[in-house]
Amino acid sequence: MITLKSERELNLMRKSCRVVAQILEELAGLVKPGITTADLDRHAELRCQEMGVVPAFKGYHGFPATLCVSINEEVVHGIPSPHRRLKEGDIIGLDFGVTLEGWYGDSARTVTVGKVNPAAQKLIDVTRESLIRGIEQCHEGNRVFDIGFAVQNYVEAFGYSVVREFVGHGIGRALHEEPQVPNYGPKGKGIPLKVGMVLAIEPMVNAGSHEVKVLGDGWTAVTLDRSLSAHFEHTVAITPSGPEILTVT
Ligand code: MG
Ligand code: MG
Repeated sequence: MITLKSERELNLMRKSCRVVAQILEELAGLVKPGITTADLDRHAELRCQEMGVVPAFKGYHGFPATLCVSINEEVVHGIPSPHRRLKEGDIIGLDFGVTLEGWYGDSARTVTVGKVNPAAQKLIDVTRESLIRGIEQCHEGNRVFDIGFAVQNYVEAFGYSVVREFVGHGIGRALHEEPQVPNYGPKGKGIPLKVGMVLAIEPMVNAGSHEVKVLGDGWTAVTLDRSLSAHFEHTVAITPSGPEILTVT
């Protein structure tokens, strides 16, 4: 079932999403060579406590941390570790969500560690822009695959590929609600988009093939060909005047 959010409910989601954006911004500012992924997770957890929000991912299907940190060929769901130290040239996907008064927010971005090579920067830039292209489709009257079509069409023009195994999602009282929001698909197909829907749109883009596999830890997804991967995500409401990005400060 797809839930449509009232204006009152949207206001609550604006609050939780603003906290997500603020903490994610802080985390991005902490990324530098030498820091461990566990350091980032500790900061995220501490800030959740200080701001009176509950981490959305910790304990979700048993995920052991507050933050997902995915380095280089890792696509999503990397587990923070005191043994993973960031190095100059790495690219780091930070994926973070909270609940506040029972309402979820979810956002992700990929950031650079020090100076990265131009190919890595290009992948990040294209993935960020593909999210914007997807968000631009969030108007009543469009259909859910219009979002994925816009993402895929943009990304593939650069020779990159979009991940199929993981998709965006509705969000609200639950982290993952219907509908699924794939980052690919045929234009004009799928369920109609309606005012009041809130969607977490999250392109995962690989420099090489779209195929991924999950490592032995049961969580970390990596590109099968070990090419670089980038990930951006916003929680977006469909309003009468079009898309509203909720995960902004
Ligand atoms: Mg996320
Ligand atoms: Mg998500």
